[in-house]
Amino acid sequence: MDHVIIRPVELTLKGNNRRWFERMLHQHLKAALARHGVTAVDRRHGRYYIGPRDDAEQIAREAAKVFGVVHTSAAKRCGRSEEEIAALTRELVAEMLTRKPELASSTFRVDVKRSYKQFPRNSMETAAWLGSVILEAHPGLKVDLHDPDWSLQVEIRGEGGFVFLEKIPGAGGLPVGTEGKVMCLLSGGIDSPVAAWQMMKRGCRVEYVHYDAQPFTGPGALEKVRTLARSLDAWQGKSKLWVVPFAPIQMATKDLPKPGYRTVLYRRFMSRIADRLARRRRCKALVSGDSLGQVASQTLDNLIVIEGAREALPMLRPLIGFDKQETIRLARHIDTYEISIRPFEDCCTLFQPDHPVTRGKLEDAEWLEGMVDVEALVQEAVEKARIEDSTRLELHG
Ligand code: ATP
Ligand code: MG
Repeated sequence: MDHVIIRPVELTLKGNNRRWFERMLHQHLKAALARHGVTAVDRRHGRYYIGPRDDAEQIAREAAKVFGVVHTSAAKRCGRSEEEIAALTRELVAEMLTRKPELASSTFRVDVKRSYKQFPRNSMETAAWLGSVILEAHPGLKVDLHDPDWSLQVEIRGEGGFVFLEKIPGAGGLPVGTEGKVMCLLSGGIDSPVAAWQMMKRGCRVEYVHYDAQPFTGPGALEKVRTLARSLDAWQGKSKLWVVPFAPIQMATKDLPKPGYRTVLYRRFMSRIADRLARRRRCKALVSGDSLGQVASQTLDNLIVIEGAREALPMLRPLIGFDKQETIRLARHIDTYEISIRPFEDCCTLFQPDHPVTRGKLEDAEWLEGMVDVEALVQEAVEKARIEDSTRLELHG
């Protein structure tokens, strides 16, 4: 194969939005493929073309990972005459049947797209004609238009014919950035990286905030979060991570009565701080890795108490209905699982109460917070927050 064809997801967006979406996808494709030495991605007729390249199969697999791509193919290109297209069709089918002898009596169909209108046959006629070209060479095969074992795709364009057999399923979703920016609370656990990825998939650019419990934890916890952020960078590029010192808040709350509320209070502080950082960075929402009932702090009662602390932005929880196994499957798929299970204490396990409340009450949380200077603690944390960008992230982990 020598060329790559990339098809974007079907859009219901119209007009300017559509053009913007296509431009964003174009940029993301160029950025993702630049790492593999691709310097030009042509955009034509709502598709993207790359080539000629010796490594078309690999580029097709890489391009399939970009959000907004429905599928990609490695194709072979020829001239636009009937003879050349028929010859290439014979060549590709013969090659495939040698590679996969089990398909000797399989069923197939031919799909044709024709934008070169001077071609002597229309799309339907071309498909029927190429079907008979294939049958002539391989009488054991059969045509099945509804549920074929394989299909041959042919595009006839001004610059030539493209013929291919395989479609690689793409990442789907929407190009990163088309839905604006969100801020994800990123712990070193399994869940929050998956939550961040889910939001990227739906077109959000994700910025991260991590609450760093040093010196109660070693530097390893933060290093692990940097490694996660860097790993997730493969899906969006140019990531930014806020690191917020959390020890002063842990110190201020550690001797309060009702230790069962500690985690809930932490989470209330985290959302307040995230809310302020997010608004400063023009993020439209916060994101966390909560899943209903997974741990004590994630019961519906406690999530409501945690919600009660925030001022403005919504907290999105893409994993709310997930079982742990479903999250783990995704974490493996996006290559964060192996990082997340590295053993480091996070700030919440450190002072974890023996008996965390499962049905927290807003009045109790507010009563406890009345014993500390919440506003001063939040302000101090926001002032001391430091931003790291992906170039710095590259240096770590
Ligand atoms: P995770 O695997 O994402 O850590 P979890 O199931 O361990 O989730 P918790 O630790 O209770 O659950 O945290 C719930 C959510 O709160 C996390 O998914 C994350 O969004 C946020 N969070 C918790 N701790 C931190 C932290 N130290 N820094 C940033 N966000 C955090
Ligand atoms: Mg956790």
